[in-house]
Amino acid sequence: MKYCTHCLMPDTKPHLSFDDSGVCQACRAHQLKNDYLGGIDWDARENEFNALLDQAKSVGGPSYDVLVPVSGGKDSIAQVHRVLGRGLRILAVHVDYGVKTEIGRRNLERVPDMGADLLVYRPSQPLHKRLIRIGLEDFGDPDLLSHTLLHAYPQHVALQYEIPLVLLGENAAVEYSGETDTAAGNTMTRAWFDRYAANQGRDARFISERYDIPFETLRYYDFPDRIAQSSTQAVFLSYYFHWDSATHLEIARKYGFESLDGPAEGTYRNYVGLDEKIHRIHQYLKVLKFGYGRATDHACEDIRNGRLTREQAKLLVKEHDLEDVSDYFLDDVARYIDMTKEELLTVLEQYRNQDIWQRDPTGRWTIPGHLQDGVAAEIATAGAR
Ligand SMILES: [Zn+2]
Repeated sequence: MKYCTHCLMPDTKPHLSFDDSGVCQACRAHQLKNDYLGGIDWDARENEFNALLDQAKSVGGPSYDVLVPVSGGKDSIAQVHRVLGRGLRILAVHVDYGVKTEIGRRNLERVPDMGADLLVYRPSQPLHKRLIRIGLEDFGDPDLLSHTLLHAYPQHVALQYEIPLVLLGENAAVEYSGETDTAAGNTMTRAWFDRYAANQGRDARFISERYDIPFETLRYYDFPDRIAQSSTQAVFLSYYFHWDSATHLEIARKYGFESLDGPAEGTYRNYVGLDEKIHRIHQYLKVLKFGYGRATDHACEDIRNGRLTREQAKLLVKEHDLEDVSDYFLDDVARYIDMTKEELLTVLEQYRNQDIWQRDPTGRWTIPGHLQDGVAAEIATAGAR
């Protein structure tokens, strides 16, 4: 494995390219994003935001003025916070797509406490569990269609309730690709959905055809194209306010948002991935397939934002990134999709990439050259000789 010379992202990450000085495209994108964000007049953007809310209020739907999709995480609580205190009728929509934790339930309860109506959607379980197993067993991603459901379902609700405004969170087009052009549009479109919500064409249409599941039963897993012709507009909050985890955590805590006492499994942060258990399996599969996990993602973000040096980050990644998934997650997820823990582990092991992982003399799986700069390149050269 070769690592970015600026952050710690390995070259095993799909679709990630490196320039001649060994800096990854994500770091370059971050620079572009910062240049772009640095040039933004945030006061003007806030005025635009206020005008947007005034307009939503004056247009008004029959029941609600604004819809906010919520996970119950700190960012979604901050999203609700931004529309409070203006006399708007707020509908918060939560897609309950997996195995909720107790802390996740408590954090979600903060949303109606804040003054929004909360709609919780739980998809039909026989169908949804089948989709999770298809994603897990055939594509190594249990959240394959849960991810499209999360993005699509609130849009369907907005159409049904004729809500003029949907307030989304962060625009992944800017955050991960530095695509400021796509961001300038600032609305969630079919093109955005296909690129950032659906996993390389493995979407509801694809699954419907391949597994002979009537598409009509998967309609909420797909983007509602008629939104383009409707009076509903879905915009990203990150266009109007500088999107910052620390600010959101501070806002969320004021409303009683709880974090963990210690770091979450697989990373060093204590306020991420708290609310649901299947997501941990999704993250662990990344570790098996590509040799890096959640701690690397967080460390790279912290390096790029100047919160950690590369050396500090390395220590944290070493400590947390390759952590085995624990029974706390395995037991409940296995039970949820009607497998034994052993069956689930067997499926997971099938995705371990043995070009990356090797057993050491004691039989333990390790990654040779893990986090060592240049070492993997030398091994590769030696092998080629
Ligand atoms: Zn990088």
